[in-house]
Amino acid sequence: MHILFLFLDGIGLGPADPTTNPFVAASVPTLRSLAGGQAWTQHAVQTNTNRALFIPTDANLGVSGRPQSATGQGTILTGVNIPAELGYHYGPRPNDAIVDIVQRDTLIKKLTARNLETTLLNAYPPPFFAAIESGKRRPSSAQLALLAAGVRFRGMDDLREGKALHVDFTGQLWHEHIRAENPEWAVPVISPQEAGQRIVSMAREADFTFFDNWLTDYIGHRGTLKDAIDQLQTLDAVLAAILDAWADDEGLIILTSDHGNMEEMGHRKHTENLVPTVVIGSQRDAFADGLSDLSDFAPRILEVFDD
Ligand SMILES: [Zn+2]
Repeated sequence: MHILFLFLDGIGLGPADPTTNPFVAASVPTLRSLAGGQAWTQHAVQTNTNRALFIPTDANLGVSGRPQSATGQGTILTGVNIPAELGYHYGPRPNDAIVDIVQRDTLIKKLTARNLETTLLNAYPPPFFAAIESGKRRPSSAQLALLAAGVRFRGMDDLREGKALHVDFTGQLWHEHIRAENPEWAVPVISPQEAGQRIVSMAREADFTFFDNWLTDYIGHRGTLKDAIDQLQTLDAVLAAILDAWADDEGLIILTSDHGNMEEMGHRKHTENLVPTVVIGSQRDAFADGLSDLSDFAPRILEVFDD
């Protein structure tokens, strides 16, 4: 049993307007097929196809205001409704109260305690490690949950060896931005197909595999509609390769988000829209029975490994 968790920051189900919603404007046949042919918008309803469950999911968690990353990611990885516990949404980086909750008792720690191995697919560039070690950069809630459980953070060497992915899947952004800082930080750029195959082969080597894709939220805040369309088309090709390589009895693939943002490119803010959840795998019905909000993932993932 392998679980592959593809976390995409800041994607929601928004209005079906191709001038602002990249999920409508982009050519994304695989995303649509995962939702039974529906576009990923606020009109999409829960659907079960022959491979995937598509579930519009509540990220507001009963608390008013725009949902934020620190509380949303923390909720996904602990199963604790952190906004309800604190009375507010908070982010992007966790405050001390969220740090306490996220370091205390996460899904990742519980998996480790059962001798289940967690792999983080992301490769981080050299400046990231320097900033974390110096304390200049507070990790995100997802990163904290992984660090607190002792999960190894991959870097440039892993990327060169084909044992990690940059946040954009292909490494093109690393090539353009990180290598520009230092020519010695060059890494190969791969195709979306290779990225999908790499994700599956790495997921087969671990019990629980996590990919932390913050780029979608970043594009929602600072990018253009074209950036968003390009990233979704890359994601679509990666998912197509994953579906080709993955057999449904190998385990579960779970894709979800912490809050909306990139589905409304007309403003730079998060949204209160539902977020898309996709669950792929032969046990998807049992896993997703009653799943409705971000606090429902962690307990169900533990149950899958109990069975
Ligand atoms: Zn954000």
